[in-house]
Amino acid sequence: MLTVMKFGGSILSTAEDLRRAAGIIKARSKERKVVVVSALKGVTDSLIGAGKSALQKEPNTQQYCSELKGMHLQLLGAIKDPIIRANSKDLIEEKMAGLERALLGVHYLGEMSPKALDLVQTFGERLSAVVVAAFLNDEGEKSVSVEAHEAGLFTDGCFGKARTTEKAEAEIRGKLLHLLKQKKTVVITGFFGADEQGNICCFGRGGSDYSAGIIAAALGADRLELWKDVPGFYSADPKTVKKAVLLKELSYDEAEEIGYFGAKILHPKTIAPVRKKGIPVVVKNVLTPGIDGTIVTAANKKSEKVIKAISSKTGIIAVTVKSAEMATTPGVLAKIFAPIAEAGIEVDFVSTSETSVSFTIDKKEKDKAMQALQSLGNCFDMLSVEEGIALVAAIGEGMKPSVDITGKVFGALAKEGINVEMISQGASEINLSLIIKEKDLAKAINALHAAIV
Ligand code: ASP
Ligand code: MG
Repeated sequence: MLTVMKFGGSILSTAEDLRRAAGIIKARSKERKVVVVSALKGVTDSLIGAGKSALQKEPNTQQYCSELKGMHLQLLGAIKDPIIRANSKDLIEEKMAGLERALLGVHYLGEMSPKALDLVQTFGERLSAVVVAAFLNDEGEKSVSVEAHEAGLFTDGCFGKARTTEKAEAEIRGKLLHLLKQKKTVVITGFFGADEQGNICCFGRGGSDYSAGIIAAALGADRLELWKDVPGFYSADPKTVKKAVLLKELSYDEAEEIGYFGAKILHPKTIAPVRKKGIPVVVKNVLTPGIDGTIVTAANKKSEKVIKAISSKTGIIAVTVKSAEMATTPGVLAKIFAPIAEAGIEVDFVSTSETSVSFTIDKKEKDKAMQALQSLGNCFDMLSVEEGIALVAAIGEGMKPSVDITGKVFGALAKEGINVEMISQGASEINLSLIIKEKDLAKAINALHAAIV
């Protein structure tokens, strides 16, 4: 049995957390294990801060670095075995020297390219892998820490939002199986890989889940476990909906959709690699290690529930482009979306009519989007932006057969006096998305949860 276990930053903070994680891993004595780690809690944000500071005339590099180093060395202070402690300390110092060089480079160049930012950001995982391996070895679990690029995790070279490439699979398998054969647990950095020239590229924030998916798929693991401080996916945010329940089973498609809406349980990119190999993904809580939280598999078990979850997204705006040309001329949509894509703006939701298209984007991207669309000159008749909106989505495989979900959705919202501004149903037919006023969101989620989940 080969298991890939991913530990996120929110559960890697104190020495107690690290001992607990080491205990969980060690307890699985009959399995071969690859442990994928995120940076310790807060470290990625600090690294980004350090990078920004390095751009200033008088950077706070020393302060950032001494804090980061102090934090990791302090944890190593809890290691009982003096040899393990000393060896790990040397490794931390080596990584810190690498970070200082990278920050110095940013400072002297006076420029933080996407490539430089990616390099700087990865030190969190490089440091945490050393610390996690130290705690494992200290618990008597023979372990070795490796960095993803050394383990053959090749990417396409798109800084900040890289994807893995086909070449990675065989490389990872070769490198990691070799280490596992030595009867060692492998602790590997999440969040990044390298392109074929050896440039370090990140997968985007929260990307360690994706690393874990890639590694699980490459190794043909029996399961991928995502360890968290929550039990798993819920039918709605329990903070908003009192009656929200833990979802014991989800399909890959459902998990991908819910993850996309920022449930922060798993990064949606994680699913593609494991889906290809049919590897089950299990969300587990460090406080109840004996229990499986949510299990995500291909099995499209027909549940009695048509809708599994209500998700939502705020902090968005809707952009509407109206053009009479759309009705008669092919390619207008492509024309509109091309500059948006070029500006690197992610689109969440699209709804079209014969002569207009509306789409939602992050509200922080408003100016960029407006500039991008202005570049189209007079290709449209009207451009408008709506703020103060929210996206709410009903998700579930059960929507596929023709069940009258839409009627129930509109009925439930109408009863609460909530106006639906736009609607879109994905071609996958497992997601029905609506745009409503942000002020109505909590009421809408509760009404939908009561009516259809
Ligand atoms: N450490 C990275 C982040 O904070 C990656 C991750 O945690 O998955 O985004
Ligand atoms: Mg995460």
